Amino acid sequence: MKACLLPSVGRIEGNPLEFTNTPDPQPRSDEVLVRVIACGVCRTDLHVIEGELPQRKLPVIPGHQVVGIVEQTGEEAKRFPAGTRVGIPWLHRTCGICEYCRTGKENLCDNPEFTGYIVDGGYAQYARAPEQFVYPIPEGFPDEQAAPLLCAGIIGFRSLRLSGIQRGGRLGLYGFGAAAHVVFQVARYWNIEVYACTRDVRHQKMALEMGAAWAGGALSEPPQKLDSAIIFAPAGEIVPAALRALKKGGTLALAGIHMSPTPPLEYHLLYHERVIRSVANNTRQDGEDFLRLAAEIPIQTQIEVFPLAEANRALNCLKNDAIRGAAVLRV
Ligand SMILES: [Zn+2]
Ligand SMILES: [Zn+2]
Repeated sequence: MKACLLPSVGRIEGNPLEFTNTPDPQPRSDEVLVRVIACGVCRTDLHVIEGELPQRKLPVIPGHQVVGIVEQTGEEAKRFPAGTRVGIPWLHRTCGICEYCRTGKENLCDNPEFTGYIVDGGYAQYARAPEQFVYPIPEGFPDEQAAPLLCAGIIGFRSLRLSGIQRGGRLGLYGFGAAAHVVFQVARYWNIEVYACTRDVRHQKMALEMGAAWAGGALSEPPQKLDSAIIFAPAGEIVPAALRALKKGGTLALAGIHMSPTPPLEYHLLYHERVIRSVANNTRQDGEDFLRLAAEIPIQTQIEVFPLAEANRALNCLKNDAIRGAAVLRV
């Protein structure tokens, strides 16, 4: 099959992904083989490619927002007949036996596998995944629009939940890329007022067009104190600014898998029971809950489509804030 393969980590400006031929994946007994139609591009892919996450598999095929059609099933895999449209997400497999898996916190599993990082992902014509970890894609979403729901959507949704925001509250979103533009729609559906803080003026404009109460720079102070905030940008220097924007007792959720160091924190910013918490991966329950809600709203993702062979270009655009909404590879 054709795939975009990462032979060794490197800065995206050097176009490290190679568009090449590679053997087709073979599904294991509990897995499905999916013919990929579209694969979303996520900032985590950049972190993998540029070596900001520890190396786990090289060469590796990135991509963990995979929409495609079940083409073949392992002998034990009975959940999806061939022809079903499914999505393969970041959470590829968990151990099922560690204390976290046993207590409903499989997102924190001690021995997890992740798609496009520890196992080959969807920047390819085919990908395999355990049937218990793939989702049926709700009808009504075109393939390419559905792809960003699988990570930007699901992990954004978990971040929104963990931010503790209540219906009718005020929420800050720091960074306005793929995840934020999905979370925004859930927040508005719940009658939450959104304040967008993002360095790129194009993203500020987009937030206002979508109905944000206010938009400004990543470090600027919103005109109202916020109940909760989520940082999507991988920039630790935003943490003090976001804490400053919070009401007493407010929660700041850090949605990224990687972040630059946070500057020293003046205690008064955290005092009055403000909370900082990170968000790590998601459970399958998060995914099911989110996809149901996404269909009910319905979420409309804004996407920029690139051919599979141009994954390097898509990732360069993502790094330079030049994507409106989410980048998606058409396979
Ligand atoms: Zn586990
Ligand atoms: Zn992702």
